[in-house]
Amino acid sequence: MADALAYLGKELDNLREQKLFRHPRVLTGMNGPRAVYDGREVINMSSNNYLGLNQHPRMIEAALRGTRKLGAGSGAVRTIAGTMEGHVELEKKIAKFKHTEAALVFQSGFTANAGTVSAVLNKDDVIVSDELNHASIIDGCRLSRAAIKVFPHADMEGLRAALEDTKSVREAGHNVLVITDGVFSMDGDIARLPEIVKIAKEYGAITMVDDAHASGVLGRNGRGTVDHFGLHGQVDIQVGTLSKAIGVVGGYVAGTQVLIDYLIHRGRPILFSTSHPPAVTEACIEAFDILQEEPEIIERLWDNTRYFKERLTALGFDTGISETPITPVMVGDGALAMEFSDKLFERGVFVVALAFPTVPRGKARLRTMVSAGHTREDLDAALAAIERTGRELGII
Ligand SMILES: *Cc1c(COP(=O)(O)O)cnc(C)c1O
Repeated sequence: MADALAYLGKELDNLREQKLFRHPRVLTGMNGPRAVYDGREVINMSSNNYLGLNQHPRMIEAALRGTRKLGAGSGAVRTIAGTMEGHVELEKKIAKFKHTEAALVFQSGFTANAGTVSAVLNKDDVIVSDELNHASIIDGCRLSRAAIKVFPHADMEGLRAALEDTKSVREAGHNVLVITDGVFSMDGDIARLPEIVKIAKEYGAITMVDDAHASGVLGRNGRGTVDHFGLHGQVDIQVGTLSKAIGVVGGYVAGTQVLIDYLIHRGRPILFSTSHPPAVTEACIEAFDILQEEPEIIERLWDNTRYFKERLTALGFDTGISETPITPVMVGDGALAMEFSDKLFERGVFVVALAFPTVPRGKARLRTMVSAGHTREDLDAALAAIERTGRELGII
């Protein structure tokens, strides 16, 4: 019998030829600043677990308490029988944290973005989107069937030009959404939110920011980019994730009560996919308390970020436009970036390489991510391995 899926194998052979075929490395034990992947103990610079909350004793205890008391699963989607007290309590906590009227928890940051954009916009509307926005935003835009205008990354003139182009749509009474990542996940730069908000308002556009990499990282106690820039009340839709600095899994939308009520009726992941189990909600509730009570963890993250970034740059590496704990090391060629990453792994440092289609062709890189839990010895050992390997490969 002919294999109807043979074409997939051919695609994979192409990747193998280009040395871009990857097996995800397998983790033994916890995802910490040092961790065991593929049986080797490494300094872990590939995790989004910025604050180490995934292994904070209070978080583990909260998850266990939730499971023992309330069971392993929620049993239904939110709108049928799966809204537990924990979901409501977590949402109240998030709304208070974000200074918004209300919040709604999704299964992931991905579903929060995709489910919200596709619910709020329709085919007569226009979405104005930064070219480096996350895949979940792009999928949400596509699902909404609205027209999509992409502007060059962080280019405010480009944003304005795209908005100029929406005049007929606005005059016909349809909606325009301006959407941006708060912190860009591949470059680590921060969106120019004050300008974006100002320009969007001139055109009467809705504003939405995806703070997946800013939640728990930027702003007072990790409140995100809106707080970082003092823009409370000026961004219509804020998305965050519970999967990165918060250390568990999930996503949320924060905004007005009207927005949240609408999403409960029209957000497809809320209507058609089961809600989080109690272990997740209880651990996330605990995480927001920890952000309030132990802000020194975030300080440690930023201390490490400054230390590591300064030394990488002093060694002569190109770290691009990063302003956050995400620090790329630009390489250019995809296969070379993979080789760099593999050599580092053999030398006890786990730094992931990113190549097309995750980043544009010719812009392959390593993406280093420090965490609050890295010691100076960890960072120095990582820097030594990166320097040695970078020299061997002719990158510096
Ligand atoms: C990681 C990420 C998401 C997805 O979040 P998950 O909770 O992992 O689904 C969305 N947007 C951006 C910018 C991200 O980096």
